[in-house]
Amino acid sequence: MPSPKRILVTGGAGFLGSHLTEALLKEGHAVFVVDNLWTGRKENLEPLRKEYGERLTFLCQDVREMDFCQEVQEIYNLACPASPPAYQQDPLATTLTCVQGALKVLELADRWHARVLQASTSEVYGDALQHPQNEEYWGNVNPHGPRSCYDEGKRVAESLFFDYRRTRGTAIKVARIFNSYGPQMDPQDGRVVSNFILQALRQEPITLYGDGSQTRSFCYCQDTIRGLMALMATPEEFTGPVNIGNPGEYTIRELAEKILALTGSASPLVYRPLPVDDPKKRRPDISLARQALPWEPRLSLDQGLPPTVHYFQSLLSNSPCPTP
Ligand code: UDP
Repeated sequence: MPSPKRILVTGGAGFLGSHLTEALLKEGHAVFVVDNLWTGRKENLEPLRKEYGERLTFLCQDVREMDFCQEVQEIYNLACPASPPAYQQDPLATTLTCVQGALKVLELADRWHARVLQASTSEVYGDALQHPQNEEYWGNVNPHGPRSCYDEGKRVAESLFFDYRRTRGTAIKVARIFNSYGPQMDPQDGRVVSNFILQALRQEPITLYGDGSQTRSFCYCQDTIRGLMALMATPEEFTGPVNIGNPGEYTIRELAEKILALTGSASPLVYRPLPVDDPKKRRPDISLARQALPWEPRLSLDQGLPPTVHYFQSLLSNSPCPTP
């Protein structure tokens, strides 16, 4: 076990944030969670509060105006909605969360000489013209489309991180996270895995956007979290950016078929318009992560879907969830 540290996780009540908080608490650290509950959910932290007591501190604050000046050794900056319907709901707030949030965590890291990790995204590659995407690729982002608040916000955050590194020597780490899924996903966040599983379990039509031939690579949440922690533990000179994702690539139609088979659902497939600027193909090249962290995912989609379906089944049996 590593020696106990004081660690700040912004966005720590969210889907990935709460899994990360749990993993850090399990390692014996004291964790401060800053989250304004825009898309994070307090219930994600409740079991952790019961199990770990005072080692977990929750602060209901917006990262843009974060008022946190305690000494920490590590900061994980995960604060930002990540699902397209959620981040497009208030696009100005999304961009500002990325930009002002990055500045806030960088100032704090600079003050305490802490390591700071930015949860960047595969969205910095936009509708990629290179496939698979490695970290050298600069991307193909529409700078004024409906996804740009997130894509460009995250790109500016990367830029701020590297400028802090160049001008102040801050110990930065930049992870480009590809689509992640698993228990604790918000049933209402509108992402493809949660939508399809809930639709299948309720015997409702599965909504394929476009013709369903677009691809994504899905990484189980525990694998993503192991990747982020491995990145944080790399030598100081290693900054990334580094892709964290599962290279298994599936069409959205294949994903729907897997979920139908797994749930035994008779839901029909229905086709809906493809959202503007929806990337056509996405698959991480994880050679750098394999070599530098070293890290690679352990669970395939076939192994990660059953516990995810189980999570949504228990949500539905405990309370009737609203339709996504
Ligand atoms: N998608 C879909 N049906 C849904 C939700 C999403 O076909 O109910 C598609 C979406 O158009 C995209 C892919 O699934 O091509 C992944 O969407 P998601 O919102 O999960 O994440 P993204 O990778 O687009 O940020």
